[in-house]
Amino acid sequence: MKYIVCDEPNKFSLKEKDVPTRESNQALIKIHRVGICGTDLHAYAGNQAFFTYPRILGHELAGEILEIDDNPQNLKKGDNVIVMPYVSCGTCVACRQGKTNCCSNIKVLGVHTDGGMQERVAVRTDLLIKANHLSYEEMAIVEPLAIGAHAIRRANIESGETIAVIGCGPIGIGLMKLAQIKGAEVIALDVDEARLAFVKNEIGVKYTVKVSETAADEVSKITNSDMATAVFDATGNKKALESGIDYMSHGGRYVLVGLSKGELVFSHPAIHAKESTIMCSRNATLEDFNFVIDNLDKFPTDTFVTHKVDFTEMIANFDSWLDPKTKVIKAMVNFNMQ
Ligand SMILES: [Zn+2]
Ligand SMILES: [Zn+2]
Repeated sequence: MKYIVCDEPNKFSLKEKDVPTRESNQALIKIHRVGICGTDLHAYAGNQAFFTYPRILGHELAGEILEIDDNPQNLKKGDNVIVMPYVSCGTCVACRQGKTNCCSNIKVLGVHTDGGMQERVAVRTDLLIKANHLSYEEMAIVEPLAIGAHAIRRANIESGETIAVIGCGPIGIGLMKLAQIKGAEVIALDVDEARLAFVKNEIGVKYTVKVSETAADEVSKITNSDMATAVFDATGNKKALESGIDYMSHGGRYVLVGLSKGELVFSHPAIHAKESTIMCSRNATLEDFNFVIDNLDKFPTDTFVTHKVDFTEMIANFDSWLDPKTKVIKAMVNFNMQ
């Protein structure tokens, strides 16, 4: 079977190897779609935290079961499945509290261990979610949307809040839509006007603010001087991460969703005066995946998936997705075109 490996930063190869043999607690999956995300772009560019090479990328996976043993979810051969790519241990302190998303031994497919950029993968059965009613594209965007769902659950967003989301990439876009579904009003911030226009037109975000020296003043105006009761960073950019508190209300929550590689600096008086709750949001759990699946009909999947390429064409196209000019939001690799 064919697979694509990221040998080292800025280098992919299309290779052949044997179909994997599955363990009894695993299913053999035929991959239909792989979504490309910021993590993949950063890994390829060589600036992703928690990353080693060579690595087979791909953690936004839509597949079909080819082989499986009897299992508690009653999954059968031929079922279409979404893969939760977070392989947790089930026994560590985080897992014992149900926080499998931040398991101390976590292995994320396509990050710490090989992912789905291959025609067949063997995946632990308990990480599969049946999704026969969804299209392959819908299935493959559930994982990135679940990241946003988890962040919203972390912050316990309630109806009537006005929240701010920094970054209108795929994660930010998902966050905004899911926050609206929870009844929150959204202020979107980004440096890119095309992306602000996207969230206004496609997601129905009422307030958009271009990031500049005066952005906090604009947020203040929109919120009648209250500022946002929750702020989410969906950029992973150091400067953006350090400025998020500026948009947050007194008594508010600041949720770090994007991941930067180095240290962050906050002014202690500034965070103390607001009695800030600063929290990180990592990965997602089954509850978050299910929340997304239940609300996927409210999400504009067709406009969100901006680029579709055949598996064998991925390497030739990958560089272009690093260029903002291609206006990529979500690129999708299709294994069925060949
Ligand atoms: Zn991702
Ligand atoms: Zn664990």
